[in-house]
Amino acid sequence: MNIILLGPPGAGKGTQAKMLMEAKGLVQLSTGDMLRAAVKAGTPVGLQAKAVMEAGGLVSDDIVIGIVSDRLDEADVREQGAIFDGFPRTQPQAEALDKLLVEKGLTLDAVINMAVEDEPLVGRISGRFTCGDCGEGYHKEFKKPAVEGVCDKCGSSNFKFRADDNEETVRERLKAYHADTAPLIDYYTATGKLKTVDGMKGIDEVQAAMVAALEG
Ligand code: ADP
Ligand code: ADP
Ligand code: ZN
Repeated sequence: MNIILLGPPGAGKGTQAKMLMEAKGLVQLSTGDMLRAAVKAGTPVGLQAKAVMEAGGLVSDDIVIGIVSDRLDEADVREQGAIFDGFPRTQPQAEALDKLLVEKGLTLDAVINMAVEDEPLVGRISGRFTCGDCGEGYHKEFKKPAVEGVCDKCGSSNFKFRADDNEETVRERLKAYHADTAPLIDYYTATGKLKTVDGMKGIDEVQAAMVAALEG
């Protein structure tokens, strides 16, 4: 099964993708994580992406489509299926994905649209942090570790905040979402594959609604 999680920054895509990995055995394919890894490693892609990401803009379609194409050739994604998290974000990316899936003999089963309001997203993003060792996501108010300062999953205390998770950049990212990504709701509605869940509910309720949407 291959599915897309569609939603603005802070909608809960990463949180839900990690839970669906465990529930359904799918592989999370996060273009944001892949781009951040490229920036950290100082690769040519990373060097091109860095400034755009820091400003809250969108990295060019060519770069993003290239990294997704490569990732779709890897065995885990092909065998277990992918949860696309943060991709596609533009109409050209959506069209490229359609083509890539055909070329690679894969199919898209569902697109889950996580419906959320803008204002609460700023609070979600400014409180976000992740475990630098295992990648588990947290929030200072909505998803605290059981023991303060210690990762539930791996016991690490190496927590990380993202450079672009500040209010000013979040507002830019929301603009990019409304201008370039929101139109994909219509694009996927036309395919009959779009399912909408209420992303304003608590993390566990959203998870239950997603599993129900995928099974229904
Ligand atoms: P995205 O990947 O869509 O940008 P995340 O999954 O990283 O979003 O979630 C953003 C922040 O909000 C994280 O700190 C996460 O713990 C928190 N969060 C995720 N889902 C919810 C929810 N349903 N209610 C409250 N907080 C949430
Ligand atoms: P969030 O879901 O919180 O917005 P991501 O980790 O998905 O964050 O993305 C972080 C940044 O990486 C984006 O603001 C953008 O600059 C870049 N990025 C990630 N995915 C894409 C994409 N599909 N197309 C263009 N830029 C992307
Ligand atoms: Zn951890």
